[in-house]
Amino acid sequence: MNPERVAIVTGAARGIGAATARRLAADGLRVAVLDLEESEAKGTVDEIKDAGGTAVAIGADVSDESAVTAAVQRVADELGAPTVLVNNAGILRDNLLFKMTAGDWDAVLTVHLRGAFLMSRAVQKYQVEQKWGRVVNLSSTSALGNRGQANYAAAKAGLQGFTKTLALELGPFGVTVNAVAPGFIETAMTRATAERVGVPFEDFIAGAVAQTAVRRSGQPEDVAAAVAFFCSEEASFVSGQVLYVAGGPKA
Ligand code: NAP
Repeated sequence: MNPERVAIVTGAARGIGAATARRLAADGLRVAVLDLEESEAKGTVDEIKDAGGTAVAIGADVSDESAVTAAVQRVADELGAPTVLVNNAGILRDNLLFKMTAGDWDAVLTVHLRGAFLMSRAVQKYQVEQKWGRVVNLSSTSALGNRGQANYAAAKAGLQGFTKTLALELGPFGVTVNAVAPGFIETAMTRATAERVGVPFEDFIAGAVAQTAVRRSGQPEDVAAAVAFFCSEEASFVSGQVLYVAGGPKA
């Protein structure tokens, strides 16, 4: 990668975001590790620095417009113009429809969709100026429907439409926009789901593995590798795509 490139990865204190931040740094980018709390993001930054990379920790809520504006400005001031954006921050508020509150609905749609919108709008200014950019949005196999996740499925399907629309709008400026849609990945998020449904995490993983063609569960690094491809210089003719990273053809 061109060492002048600066990436922002949201929700990068842990899980898929942290693995993606580490991977992009290993590929030579300077990386802003953004999460709700700056102190939480510092762990990923230390790992990147220990490996010889360059990173800064940024605290911001991606759904807060003024916080996003300030965060992106800080990245530009401290690392340089951000032209790679990975919209990864996410939350779950699972429940069957009849038990789902309006608060559960709003919280999920707000972080995933409003968050990706605000971050992308703030970063596109730098991408258009530089006539180069990459946006990767984290969708999910849940976009195809998943019991107990009406809010999350709607958000993740919404991100696919968002991806394709930004690909059309930003393509003339050298900016590609793609989505990665993971299946079951071992992170704090899936561990919390196992706890919520009262299944030991190891059993939860075994259940996922049994339904996965490659007979293993996904790791954050599996997703990071797909994101890194979309962010690479040589992926400049790939845009508006959704890549399922799910260990098989069935989501
Ligand atoms: P995770 O371990 O829960 O990490 C998500 C990170 O996002 C956390 O550090 C969280 O911070 C942060 N975050 C939440 N709300 C935020 C906000 N408003 N602003 C900034 N940061 C925020 O999740 P993950 O499993 O790595 O998932 C990462 C992404 O992949 C999500 O978009 C998720 O929906 C998607 N995905 C995951 C899977 C899977 O199986 N794990 C599958 C498909 C798609 P706090 O810890 O402070 O809340």
